[in-house]
Amino acid sequence: MDLTERRDLRGGHPCWVAIDDNTLTSDPIPSDSVDIAIVGAGVMGAMLGERLSGEGRRVLLLDRRPPAHGSTAASTALVMWAADVPLTRLAGTIGMAEAARRWRRVFAAVERLAARIDDAEIECGRIDRPELYLAGTLLDEQALRAEAEARRAAGLPSDYLDAATVAGRFDIAPRAALLSAGSYEVDPVRLTLGLLAKARARGAAACFPFDVARIEQTGGGSMLHGADGRRIEAKTVILAPGYERAVWFLPAAFTVGSSYAIATAPGRAPLWRENAMIWEASSPYLYTRATADGRVIAGGEDEDFDDARQRDALIETKRGTISAKLAAMIAVEDITVDCAWAAAFGSSPDGLPAIGRARNHDNLWLASGFGGNGVSFAALGTELIAAALSGATDPDAECFDPYRFS
Ligand SMILES: Cc1cc2nc3c(=O)[nH]c(=O)nc-3n(C[C@H](O)[C@H](O)[C@H](O)COP(=O)(O)OP(=O)(O)OC[C@H]3O[C@@H](n4cnc5c(N)ncnc54)[C@H](O)[C@@H]3O)c2cc1C
Repeated sequence: MDLTERRDLRGGHPCWVAIDDNTLTSDPIPSDSVDIAIVGAGVMGAMLGERLSGEGRRVLLLDRRPPAHGSTAASTALVMWAADVPLTRLAGTIGMAEAARRWRRVFAAVERLAARIDDAEIECGRIDRPELYLAGTLLDEQALRAEAEARRAAGLPSDYLDAATVAGRFDIAPRAALLSAGSYEVDPVRLTLGLLAKARARGAAACFPFDVARIEQTGGGSMLHGADGRRIEAKTVILAPGYERAVWFLPAAFTVGSSYAIATAPGRAPLWRENAMIWEASSPYLYTRATADGRVIAGGEDEDFDDARQRDALIETKRGTISAKLAAMIAVEDITVDCAWAAAFGSSPDGLPAIGRARNHDNLWLASGFGGNGVSFAALGTELIAAALSGATDPDAECFDPYRFS
């Protein structure tokens, strides 16, 4: 069996124009062993590569696709600290103290990522946005009030707004909501390519296409075997293969389904006030944001199945459903869609990622950002793995351990 699954990760046409830039060329495969090999050059791999090369390590990124051509290219990239499973729901399974600890840690990682993007001047259209979380089938008004209280008690910046206030302030359909600070939008493809450029400037190599078929433990680390017979040795390997799961190592609790998104033509947005990022406390949820060039993006309508043909056959239907739901949510007559796409989408029972040491293989790490906050989880994964590799003990590492459900 291959090291990772093979999937058609996305169908249709995502709105990020940087995907069409094919000027990026591969580096040659290093002739000797490297300190760290990262399998996957999406946002997770690129963020890790940027950080670890900055710490003086020889880093090699390997990808079977060009960088940022996997799920990252399908992302709608609302960079938020609030996860798919509400804080109060998570507290129901692991207790409030533990739930709050996880949420605070994601919040901090999101905050530090913003500072990093700004300091490093990575041009990815990062803009702070208010985040509006509307009452839905998962949390009604009363449950939303409790969620606001729990978040505030945890030190997280969310306030409850009643339906009339939401309608008056944001000019959308009346629905109670939580208004939160600390979130922002990015162009996920430009972010990934920007991080990769920084990593390469510090000596990291990015080799593609390189399909890692197998890894084998050696005396000095691991030998990575390409599907075409090429080989490279690394002291440490980080698996960042996105939703093409490393099934030998990633527990079955981390599942893959399908998700859908649409975008209007540029120049239409925003269609509501304050350019907030809006989503709803429902399962599956609808969400929307604007882009720097004035598109309205919306997504949701998730399905449990992961078959790409079945998924893509529904793009037209989902395009209609999402645009109709969006029109109702933001109280406009109708939405004219410019592009629509579908993609694999990974979830976990607690809405949190799988980050940590792999079992049964030395010096192998998993960095799988399952859940709707994949970009935020890339920031978190980078912090946790970088700390561990430098010998530090991160007190929150256990919270995101891949084997926490077993
Ligand atoms: C429709 C949609 C909307 C989303 N919206 C948001 C959002 O609003 N906010 C947010 O934070 N997140 C969002 N996400 C989630 C987020 O985009 C993803 O979690 C994130 O982009 C995944 O990045 P990654 O680097 O882990 O995976 P990828 O970008 O898929 O990169 C993994 C790479 O690994 C490579 N690979 C896999 N196996 C091998 C192998 N054996 N050898 C070599 N290469 C290999 C693949 O080719 C791929 O390029 C969304 C996702 C989707 C699909």
